Amino acid sequence: MSGVAPLPERADVVVIGGGIMGLSIAHALAREGQRSVVVLEKSYLVSGASGRNGGGVRAQWSSEDFVELMKDSIRICRDFAQEMRINVWFRQGGYLFIARSDAHAQQLAASVEMQRAHGLSTRLVDAREAKRVAPILDVAGVVAGSYNADDGVVFPWPFVWGYAHACTELGVGVHPFTEVLDLDLQAGRVVAVETTRGRVRCEQVVVAAGAWSPEVAAMAGVDLPNQPHRHEICASEPLKPFLEPLVAELESGLYFSQSMRGEIIGGVSNEDVPEGLDQGSGLRFLGLYSRALTRAAPRLGSLRVLRQWAGCYDITPDGSPIVGGVDEVAGLELCCGFMGHGFMMAPVFGPLFARHLLRGEEAELFRRWNLRRFATGELAEAGMILG
Ligand SMILES: Cc1cc2nc3c(=O)[nH]c(=O)nc-3n(C[C@H](O)[C@H](O)[C@H](O)COP(=O)(O)OP(=O)(O)OC[C@H]3O[C@@H](n4cnc5c(N)ncnc54)[C@H](O)[C@@H]3O)c2cc1C
Repeated sequence: MSGVAPLPERADVVVIGGGIMGLSIAHALAREGQRSVVVLEKSYLVSGASGRNGGGVRAQWSSEDFVELMKDSIRICRDFAQEMRINVWFRQGGYLFIARSDAHAQQLAASVEMQRAHGLSTRLVDAREAKRVAPILDVAGVVAGSYNADDGVVFPWPFVWGYAHACTELGVGVHPFTEVLDLDLQAGRVVAVETTRGRVRCEQVVVAAGAWSPEVAAMAGVDLPNQPHRHEICASEPLKPFLEPLVAELESGLYFSQSMRGEIIGGVSNEDVPEGLDQGSGLRFLGLYSRALTRAAPRLGSLRVLRQWAGCYDITPDGSPIVGGVDEVAGLELCCGFMGHGFMMAPVFGPLFARHLLRGEEAELFRRWNLRRFATGELAEAGMILG
C-alpha cells in the first residue's frame, strides 16, 4: 500500500473510500484491465464500517435480488483466502433466524419458500430443531426458525487488506490518509478531485464512502437521501467452540456468533442513538444486548465482554442501495446505501460495478437502484430485511 507514494496527477477512475466496497470495485476494474485507478481513503483502511462490522455473510434474504447476489458472494468468500493468499477466517456455521411471534414466523416461512425456489437449502425449523442446531438456546417461546448451513462469518480486517494488497499488485494506487475535500466540475462533468495531498484529474469518480457518501456527493452539489445510523457491537472473552451458527432473533434484532478465535460477537437493535455520523459507544447498548442475549441463551449470563465499539449503517429510505450514475453530473458514480449488509454484498457488487463502468450501460439492477428513483417516486422496497 502506498501511504507515502505520491498521488498521480490523473487517473481514469478515482474511487473515494477505501472500505470493502471501494476496494472491491477497484480490484474488479483492474482485473478487467482498467489499471488507471486510484482509491482515496481519508483515514486508515479499516477505519469505516468495513473494519467495524460483525462479518456476517448470508444468502437468507427476503428479497430475490439479494438472494441471487449472495449466492455468488458466498462462493467468492469461499475461494477468497486461496485466491488472495490471506486467511479471512471464513467459517460456514450457518445462520439460524428465530421468530417468537406468529407474524415473524409467517414472514420466515414465505422467505424460506422463496429461497428454496432460488436453489438455497434453507429450511424452516421448529423450536426443537432450533435447539438441536444451537443447543445453547433456551427455545421456550420460539415459534419457528429458519436455518441455512451455507451462511457464515468472516473476519472483516484481512478481507479488506486482501483486496488492498491485490489492488496494489495489479497497479491500482491505494492511498490511505488522503481525504477528498472537493470535487471539480466543468460543464456538468466531474473533472478532478481535490485532496489533502493534491489534485487528481480524472474521467470518472466513484463515491464509495459508506455513511459519508452524502457528504462527498454534496461536494458535487448532489443531494443523497441516505442517513447514517450508529450501530453498536461487542466481543467477549474467547471461549471453547460451542456455537455453530450465527443466531439472529427477529423481534429484538439480537444477533450473536462465535468467531474462529472463540469470541462471542454480537449486537442488538437500538434506535435510541445520537443522530449523524457518530461512532461512539454507550452503556444503554450493553444493557439491551445483555438482556436479549441472556434471554436467548441464559448460560451466557456470565460471559465477560472485552471490547465494545460502533460504526455507522448507511440507511436509505427504501432499504435498497444507491448505485450507478447521477443524471445531473456526468462522470459521477454512486455505490452506497448498503445499510447493515454492505460487507457481504461487496465481493459480488465490485465486479458488477466494474462491468457497469467499463461497458457504460445501465443493467436492470442499476436502473432500479439508481438515485433518480427518489425523484420519480419509483422506490425499490427491499422487503423485510432479516437481521
Ligand atoms: C456494527 C456493524 C455491524 C455490521 N455487520 C455487518 C455484517 O455482519 N455483515 C455485513 O455484510 N455488513 C455489516 N455491516 C455493514 C457493513 O459494515 C457496511 O455496509 C460496509 O462495510 C460498507 O462498506 P463501504 O466500503 O461502503 O463503507 P466504509 O467501510 O464505511 O468505507 C467508506 C470509507 O470512506 C472513507 N471516506 C469518507 N469520506 C471520505 C473522504 N472525503 N475522502 C476519502 N475517504 C473518505 C471513510 O473513511 C471510510 O473508510 C455492519 C456495520 C456495522 C457498523
